[in-house]
Amino acid sequence: MDLYEHQARQLFEEFGIPVPRAEVTDSPREARGIARRLGGRVVVKAQVRTGGRGKAGGVRLAEDPAAAERTARQILGTDINGHPVRTVMLAQPADIESEFYVSYVLDRAAGQFLAIASAEGGTEIEEVAATRPESVARVPVDPVEGVTSAKANEIVRAAGLPPRTADILMRLWQVLTREDALLVEVNPLVRTVQGHLLALDGKVTLDDNARFRQTRWGEQDERHDDPLEAAAAAKGLNYVKLDGEVGVIGNGAGLVMSTLDVVAGCGARPANFLDIGGGASARVMSDGLSVVLSDPDVKSVLVNVFGGITACDAVADGIVRALDAVRPTKPLVVRLDGNNAVRGRAVLDDRAHPLVRQATTMDDAARLAARLADAG
Ligand code: GDP
Ligand code: MN
Repeated sequence: MDLYEHQARQLFEEFGIPVPRAEVTDSPREARGIARRLGGRVVVKAQVRTGGRGKAGGVRLAEDPAAAERTARQILGTDINGHPVRTVMLAQPADIESEFYVSYVLDRAAGQFLAIASAEGGTEIEEVAATRPESVARVPVDPVEGVTSAKANEIVRAAGLPPRTADILMRLWQVLTREDALLVEVNPLVRTVQGHLLALDGKVTLDDNARFRQTRWGEQDERHDDPLEAAAAAKGLNYVKLDGEVGVIGNGAGLVMSTLDVVAGCGARPANFLDIGGGASARVMSDGLSVVLSDPDVKSVLVNVFGGITACDAVADGIVRALDAVRPTKPLVVRLDGNNAVRGRAVLDDRAHPLVRQATTMDDAARLAARLADAG
């Protein structure tokens, strides 16, 4: 789960990392009052969990409280790279002398963390990394040893950062470990004209596996920007909206991922990822079908189930009950294989639903679903 910038800022502040004074609001009127409290001149920043806000017009300087209100009104309710802006953060502006980049990311392949740092931070960091990779230092961090003072100084030297950033690097490591984050990033970390270091923008990605003990960010971040994803999340489904026309339902994340590939291989585009899991009960199946079918982009649906512990006849029962509950208006292709597949197929044959066709292999099923989507 990604945190919003203002939440990352709050964590940084708690761990003693210097940040600008700032407040969050969803109201332009309130933005004026906040700007007044912060000294008049403020930076108005769209709170969206995506990068590149500055370039997309989501970070703007306002000279006085009236301008802050106007700017907040302009940004609120718009869309930054597909993310609706529901709140803005108003921050005291910094007089920037230099911008740096620092982050820790989990390096799964190496079984450790990686500190990535550069003396050339800011909105062009991707460009810097692509064209001058030698300007971006990558220093492995042992997860048990962590960022000691020696390690922090190693990162500082490798990236050519000001020596005083070592203290911030150690505190940032505390944010990562104590908050169970997979990524913490400060871009830019700035040195101001007055000589102060400030974390001007932050990104924190929390490890969802640790949510049982990291409850503070709670429900507010369950919000999904896509309405179908929100509906699916409310039903406890593992659903991700994609932009194609073949709805995909399967049991097991690996099978669903492969199904997306096979659909793409047939020249069609998957409309979604939906993993109904091992149980695949009638309820889950009808919840899943109703979400997928309510997507106006969907032209056909491919149900791809491999019976392992779950028997295919139980899944077929689920599909039959789902068909009665959901009443589909688009063609469905069902492929059942594995445990009790023959019985499962017989259940669907008996039901003889006019919109349901069966296929025995994943390739055949995907081809048929792609063809039906093309015709629909
Ligand atoms: P991002 O585009 O989503 O990464 O948003 P940032 O908060 O990182 O802002 C983008 C850029 O705007 C920064 O790299 C700075 O160059 C500039 N910026 C942000 N805040 C300030 C500020 O307080 N003062 C000044 N002078 N520039 C700022
Ligand atoms: Mn940034």
